[in-house]
Amino acid sequence: MPDPVGSPLAARDRGLVWHPYAPLDGPQPYAVEGASGVHLTVTAPDGSQHEAVDAMASWWCAVHGYRNPVLDAAAHDQLDRFSHVMFGGLTHEPAVSLAERLTAIAPGPMSHVFFADSGSVSVEVALKLSLQYQAARGRPRRQRFLTVRGGYHGDTFAAMSVCDPVDGMHSAFPGALARQVFAPRPPGARLRMTVHGEHRWETDELALEAWADEVRTLAGAHTDELAAVVVEPVLQGAGGMHVYHPACLRVLREVADDHGLLLVVDEIATGFGRTGRLFASEWADVAPDVMCVGKALTGGYLSLAAVLMTRQVGEAITRSQFRALLHGPTFMANPLACAVANASVELVESSWKEDVPRVGRVLAEQLAPAAGLSCVADVRTLGAVGVVQLTSAVDVGRVTAAALRRGVWVRPFRDLVYTMPPYVCGDDDVRVIGEGIVGAVAEVHG
Ligand SMILES: *Cc1c(COP(=O)(O)O)cnc(C)c1O
Repeated sequence: MPDPVGSPLAARDRGLVWHPYAPLDGPQPYAVEGASGVHLTVTAPDGSQHEAVDAMASWWCAVHGYRNPVLDAAAHDQLDRFSHVMFGGLTHEPAVSLAERLTAIAPGPMSHVFFADSGSVSVEVALKLSLQYQAARGRPRRQRFLTVRGGYHGDTFAAMSVCDPVDGMHSAFPGALARQVFAPRPPGARLRMTVHGEHRWETDELALEAWADEVRTLAGAHTDELAAVVVEPVLQGAGGMHVYHPACLRVLREVADDHGLLLVVDEIATGFGRTGRLFASEWADVAPDVMCVGKALTGGYLSLAAVLMTRQVGEAITRSQFRALLHGPTFMANPLACAVANASVELVESSWKEDVPRVGRVLAEQLAPAAGLSCVADVRTLGAVGVVQLTSAVDVGRVTAAALRRGVWVRPFRDLVYTMPPYVCGDDDVRVIGEGIVGAVAEVHG
């Protein structure tokens, strides 16, 4: 079939520019003409124009929407001062303010911040610092990581090594990835609201106990090789939008303590309110040793991530042979990104407590009918996350197009059609998302 002629930009893009996990001769992308509030204006490959609610918040980042006046002002203001300076030997207000802000809101006492330029790089730094920490404590042979199956931590090599070994990209790089220790995926759980408006987590208690036993055994068998536990707290994102019981995170905290490991939580997807807590670790009342944040950190404006760590970790590394954390990206603590992040985190702090449960409530109502479709295996929500899991792989092209005709931008993967809407979605926008997803799934797979 010849390509449709509708979108000249998409035609120029094709075969020239790589897209995430896509072949050069894959389907033509949709062209974004504009973005404002929670809406994207896109031109489809057939030339048709669509105004769509962005149900993905640009891969979970754009929590305050596009062209947000507060974030725009913060960016313009910093642009008028300076947009970048090196961070070696220099510092600046946006970085220091952001470090103060992040340590103040972190789950548990965090004393130090390392700024990285993307989520994957922050995971690299967290893994690297775990080895430095163990070496500093006289245990240089501890160089492996304990994690759970079904995780996603980024696309760089060390980050890839702790991604799910089957669904991650391990098979594409045989021999090139460090071999980590994988516990089973924690059993699935659901968060229910009681009639009194209280939260109650439900899971298969026996499965949870069996899982905990396995994790303890595994850690015991590998104590002398392990540097840290690395995990996404409560919600595994790109590894399958899997929700698990906070008790599992407490088990991992115990295991880390019992075996002298650091607990590294990857809050890159879950941080800043998304799961219904400011950080998902709070569902478990767990204080991590190291925490990575990214994605929504700048409200989706610029690429920035951060690694937070406790005083104990900072002190150990400072007393070590090298004294420094051995990393230093060119764009470390980019002032423009830090300035926008300060504004974004401040907005999150003032709004997430109302917005996230509100968006979540409407989502849960709207997605519930999907459970009645025979092609649907499960419908789940947590915070401002809504997931419709099919019984087989999603026809991504057709579901995307069908949702777009209903005014919604989604990017399904595997057997999942899901949404992580911007927090600033009005109830009507969330209804459009819910109806768009259910309608598209019913039309294509029903
Ligand atoms: C997206 C993501 C990453 C990687 O972040 P990038 O900015 O894409 O490098 C790491 N961990 C989790 C949990 C993520 O969702």
